[in-house]
Amino acid sequence: MIVAKFGGTSVENARAMENVIGIVTREKARQPLVVVSAIAGATNDLQQCAFRALEGKLDDSVSILNNLLDRHVTIAENVIDNRPSYPQVIQFCRRRIEELRNLCQGIAILGELTNRSLDAITSVGERMSSMILCEGMKQRGIPAELIDARSLMLTDDRYTSATPLFDRIEERSKEVVSPLLKSGKIPVTQGYIGSTVKGITTTLGRGGSDYSAAILGAALDAEEIQIWTDVDGVLTADPRIASKARKLRIISFREASELAYFGAKVLHPSTILPAIGKNIPVVVLNSKRPDSTGTRIVAHPPKSNVPVKSIASKKGITVINIQSTRMLMAHGFLESIFAVFNRYKTSVDLVSTSEVAVSLTIDNPEKIDEIVAELKRFSEVAIYERKAIVCIVGDQMHSTAGIADRIFRALGDINVMMISQGASEINMSLVIEEERVLDAVRRLHAEFFEPVPEVELFDAVGAN
Ligand code: ADP
Ligand code: ASP
Ligand code: MG
Repeated sequence: MIVAKFGGTSVENARAMENVIGIVTREKARQPLVVVSAIAGATNDLQQCAFRALEGKLDDSVSILNNLLDRHVTIAENVIDNRPSYPQVIQFCRRRIEELRNLCQGIAILGELTNRSLDAITSVGERMSSMILCEGMKQRGIPAELIDARSLMLTDDRYTSATPLFDRIEERSKEVVSPLLKSGKIPVTQGYIGSTVKGITTTLGRGGSDYSAAILGAALDAEEIQIWTDVDGVLTADPRIASKARKLRIISFREASELAYFGAKVLHPSTILPAIGKNIPVVVLNSKRPDSTGTRIVAHPPKSNVPVKSIASKKGITVINIQSTRMLMAHGFLESIFAVFNRYKTSVDLVSTSEVAVSLTIDNPEKIDEIVAELKRFSEVAIYERKAIVCIVGDQMHSTAGIADRIFRALGDINVMMISQGASEINMSLVIEEERVLDAVRRLHAEFFEPVPEVELFDAVGAN
């Protein structure tokens, strides 16, 4: 079997859904499990509707919900036209929106929005899109069957970023999905959403549908995990930043992980992990151009002679500088620092140490005040906000001389606050001012990919 995941833009309107149905029809013989996101923008809208309710602006919430309902009705009208499916689907969407109106009213009255409520609210996006897509498939003769992801994707109760319970998911997937596949059905389920063992709705965090697809693929020993999106594959940079970005034919799990972790939105950062565990290729494909070959992400791609394969960037980074004359050189200093971050469940991205200081970066400043207060008990702390990480990735970087020189020459007058290289051997990460990030990515892209290296690795976007 394979897993075919379709992102928000792949189901954003009736035409997009028709493309998806065409792709699934074509892949039918490979026994696809279809995983679908909410329609483009729906999760943002749902979050906004909750936040407006919390501010007491119930009218705004209701108007967001009405718009969202209209968008779904329009798609459903164009994708499904037979009875009794169409009225059932419309009724399903109306009921969900009605429930959300009531929930928002509760939030406005109480003036309280918990992460648990937020998950209940945002989960509706995937529940509606999957219902429409599944009925659209049935109508075109595809033996589709909708599975509520909450019966498969069991998680802990860390609402808004729940952790999947892999063993339970594997068990449930084999019980629920495998028999359907065996009987020739095409199961359709939602990405992003899950449930605690007690049946409370959770989500895996924004962009989490990719992760859902990979988890289910690993649970079912898929032959391939397909991520269908709105670009040709993994590119040499975000095409919204570097207009001449090229598509990569193949990259390694490690390269893809680093890119995703350091900001390449095309893959959720956790996507690759389940695939590595079972050595399942992940293929990133463009649902608007179903015949294009996409990017294959595998354990060991053939060696290529290009040192740099892609550039990612991530804004909203906070740098923390820690100095301690008392503790420095004393063993246990780093341990005491990391213990603080661990206590506040805040992960550290880059670390750099010198004789007198330790610098590190975090991308989630939620607990920064508490962290700084604790660090100050044994050191001096300085905080620098609104920084960005630029990450240059390629598995031959470490064995190619002169790369750092090219990077720094290309950056020119862009000041680098922190550098990290070596740990993974396949990337170099730099911390710069947030406002210079577009410039930095463009300059580095021009240095390494314009003109494009003549190796059989890069394709022009839209080429095949
Ligand atoms: P989906 O809704 O299908 O999950 P996303 O918007 O989450 O799609 O991810 C696709 C987007 O990721 C692209 O439109 C592109 O702008 C962005 N992106 C960032 N970095 C890269 C990269 N290196 N390669 C391809 N796309 C990238
Ligand atoms: N719909 C969710 C989001 O927008 C999950 C996803 O699309 O991957 O974050
Ligand atoms: Mg995505």
